Amino acid sequence: MKEVVVLSGKGGTGKTSIVGAFAALARNKVLADCDVDAADLHLLLSPSMREEHEFWSGQVAEIDPDRCTRCGLCEETCRFDAIHAYQVGRIGCEGCGLCARLCPTGAIRMKDNLSGHWFISDTRFGTLVHARLGIAQENSGKLVHLVRQKAKELALHEGADITINDGPPGIGCAVISSLSGAALACIVTEPSLSGIHDMERVLSVCRHFVIPALVCINKHDMNEEGTQQIENYCDSRHIQVISRIPFDPRVTEAQVQGVSLLEYTDDSYITAPIEQAWEAVRVRLDGKASGGP
Ligand code: SF4
Ligand code: SF4
Repeated sequence: MKEVVVLSGKGGTGKTSIVGAFAALARNKVLADCDVDAADLHLLLSPSMREEHEFWSGQVAEIDPDRCTRCGLCEETCRFDAIHAYQVGRIGCEGCGLCARLCPTGAIRMKDNLSGHWFISDTRFGTLVHARLGIAQENSGKLVHLVRQKAKELALHEGADITINDGPPGIGCAVISSLSGAALACIVTEPSLSGIHDMERVLSVCRHFVIPALVCINKHDMNEEGTQQIENYCDSRHIQVISRIPFDPRVTEAQVQGVSLLEYTDDSYITAPIEQAWEAVRVRLDGKASGGP
């Protein structure tokens, strides 16, 4: 069983639409939405929930009003400004535990924090593992790790060949969690100045973790000069550019309809480059090609 993670370096490159199309094309796979801060793969896949689980992470302080003498020490010393009027704000508390140690009456206890939920769902393209992080909750890296782990376990259980992971944007902790140990990264980029810069950054993360990477240029016709620049960059580093996908408003229309692009249209103008990208990913996963970031 092999794991491919689709990354973008930033949001808004069309990554999730491409993952949705890969989901329609790939056989015998499990899907994982690792973009837990802004999960949206489910919008294309209309999942039917099979299991829901709580995700507990970190701790928050809680004040017992019956034991609190209103001395104000905790409010004075909390460097995160999380305590007001002898109450702890759930969003502000970082769980450092200082107030609980300092409170002269022992009125503050640290309690486990429910940070979010994760789900196993059935979709028309197979099993999907996805998650929702609570508002202002951190530790998305830990939740991404959990989602990946569950997707791998399910893939082994179901006899699937691949897990396709929709990765988080950026290059932070959640991206590292989604990437480490994967068989392959597919970087979706667009030929804007920031898109190229973000692609370079995410490729450097792949290089650091020794994960082979492929590049897919989305909306290539919006800036042919930028597309050329991406191709030159990839050529010079022996990174395969697997497809150039044109801008097409039907990508957004499909998203609005809640279906994958390949269900929305069979016009090869837009479907062929995506099929070409998936074929290149599949071939690389099968070990029929070589090269790296
Ligand atoms: S330090 Fe303890 S007793 Fe003092 S205000 Fe805070 S909770 Fe109340
Ligand atoms: S645990 Fe730390 S961050 Fe939370 S309220 Fe207490 S001092 Fe502030």
